[in-house]
Amino acid sequence: MIKIFMNKFMIAARFVIFSAIFALVCAGCFGCGEKREKTEKNKEENEMEISRYILTESQSNCYLLYDEKNKKACLIDPGEYDEEIMSFIEEKELDCKYIILTHGHFDHIIGAEPFKEKTGAKIAAHELEEEYLSDPGKSMTFYFADETVSADMFFKDGDLIEFGDFSLRVIHTPGHSKGSSCFVYESENKKIIFTGDTLFLGTIGRYDFYGGDHDTLMASLKKLKSLKIDYTIYPGHGDKTTLEYEIAHNPYYAGMR
Ligand SMILES: [Zn+2]
Ligand SMILES: [Zn+2]
Repeated sequence: MIKIFMNKFMIAARFVIFSAIFALVCAGCFGCGEKREKTEKNKEENEMEISRYILTESQSNCYLLYDEKNKKACLIDPGEYDEEIMSFIEEKELDCKYIILTHGHFDHIIGAEPFKEKTGAKIAAHELEEEYLSDPGKSMTFYFADETVSADMFFKDGDLIEFGDFSLRVIHTPGHSKGSSCFVYESENKKIIFTGDTLFLGTIGRYDFYGGDHDTLMASLKKLKSLKIDYTIYPGHGDKTTLEYEIAHNPYYAGMR
């Protein structure tokens, strides 16, 4: 009896600690009461569709990218398993090729294995995130159930992740974690970067977790700035923004040449 109580107590305690820590993970705007938001419907033929789902207590953004025409899809950062996403994939009869992780922190990865099981998608992460995925201390999944994730493939800077007619280009942007990566999508009508916990609306990710480093993160922000295209930013937490807006208004870009 005491043991059961202690277990429950430990789970509750972990949850409280986790909530307190992750309220601080990203100083970004989480003001949104909606859990999920479907992004705009494409009018153009053969354009990538994007649905955003806000998951976990830390309100991580999970993005489902898909092609209505050839039914290929990929999922970015499933912080937890979510029935609504799975039903949508099934309803649309999407073939989810990849589960792509911007980095290996728990609020972006815990849904990866269950989604893989359901869809057969391959889990992909930067090669430097392997040590996070396999270590509940480094991924901080130990606040829950000591989950680990085994990636099926690792990418590095410049790699292309292709699904159907679309591709995402990997930009390695370390600083929040060693292998943090952004994914660039470009078409005639859309220029997008999925930035994970590297860059948010008005702020940036923390650099005091394992493998994080302020100067490295600044160098990564500079790398994004050097792209010189006004990409729409789909961050790992909070609302979307644009690269131009962040360069002009984000305090971490202030004074950066
Ligand atoms: Zn993170
Ligand atoms: Zn996060």
